[in-house]
This record gives sequence, C-alpha cells and structure tokens, in this order.
Amino acid sequence: MTRKLYYEDAYLKEAKAKVVEIKENALLLDQTIFYPTGGGQPHDRGTISGVQVLDVYKDEDGNVWHVVEDVSKFDIGDEVELRIDWDYRYKLMRIHTSMHLLDHVLSEVLGRENWKIVGSGMNVEKGRYDVEYPENINKFKEQIIELFNKYVDEGGEVKIWWEGEKRLTQIRDFEVLPCGGTHVKDIKEIGHIKKLKRSSIGKGKQRLEIWLE
Ligand SMILES: [Zn+2]
Repeated sequence: MTRKLYYEDAYLKEAKAKVVEIKENALLLDQTIFYPTGGGQPHDRGTISGVQVLDVYKDEDGNVWHVVEDVSKFDIGDEVELRIDWDYRYKLMRIHTSMHLLDHVLSEVLGRENWKIVGSGMNVEKGRYDVEYPENINKFKEQIIELFNKYVDEGGEVKIWWEGEKRLTQIRDFEVLPCGGTHVKDIKEIGHIKKLKRSSIGKGKQRLEIWLE
C-alpha cells in the first residue's frame, strides 16, 4: 500500500518517490505527499517531476493514484520529485480544521443535542455545513463568530492518533472525531471567520457557510 506521507507530516511540500505501477494515465508511487479526494477534502494539486497532477484518488486497496498530464514521461522504477501546491493545500488544511472547530462551537452555542449535521463540504474558498435545527441560526450568528474567534486567539493543539484502522482527531479537550483529512497543528493557524452566511435549503434544513480571513 502507498505510504501516506501526508499523514506522517501534513506540512511536507516536497518529497521523492518511486514509480511502482502505471495504469492508463495514472501513476502509483511507493509513497506520496499528495492527498487524494476524500472525507470532503479535495485532492492536492502539484507536479511530479515537473508534470502536472490532474487528479489524485485512493483505490479500494488504499493505494493512491496520481493522474498526470503526460504519462509518457514516466517508467516503472523511476525516481520522481513530488511537489504540491502548498498555498492551495494550506488553505484547505485551514478550512478543514475550521470545520472541526465550527462543529464544536455550534454544539456549545446551540446545545449538543439540539442540532445535527446532515451534509458538509469544503473547497479552498469556504466550508459548508447543512444542519437541522428548530430555529433560525441567524440569531446566534454573532455569538458563533465571537466564540470561534476567541478559540482561534487562544489556540490549541490538533491531536491526531490511530486506533487500529481508525484515525481520530481532537482539538483541545473538545469532541473526538474520526477524520482522514489534513489539519493544521494548532487552531491559531486557522485565522478568524471573515463571514458566516446562513441560508434556508428547505425541509427545515439550514446551510451555514464560512469564509476565513
Ligand atoms: Zn478532519
């Protein structure tokens, strides 16, 4: 199985690897820093020995495949240089971690038992939760932003550990959440919420979107 360097150190921007298999336009490497699409987090962008990576996905065996622009540049056994688009990945790490923090903040403000996540998503611009809650969340907007930003200012380690196949994460002493994504080391790195938007998406569901500073 591909050694997943992004789990050993989410801050790796470059690494070397070896091509172990080629299938159509995709490369299998012995190890990678490229995060594959999964858990709501988009795949990394970047280059392998200067060739653009167009897609990164994980197969059912846990191997990570890299779809490249020009596969003819590679042969099995080649030593290659991996480089991810760090600006892009770091923004995703901040957005991703912000969703964990927002989850906790919503539980504190709305009451753990009173709300439920029914959908989520993220991209480099913003994070999104679709939630069920009996009242219009707009009236808690300022409170949510204030508490979120307070935690960011105070900071707190994002702990990550494995229990068998399960990867668990925890911010400070908040809820323990299973998650396979990439996170910042400390919630200070997230930065403040710039904007929180609430909209109705029907059937009693509300959409919350956040943009970071
Ligand atoms: Zn996560």
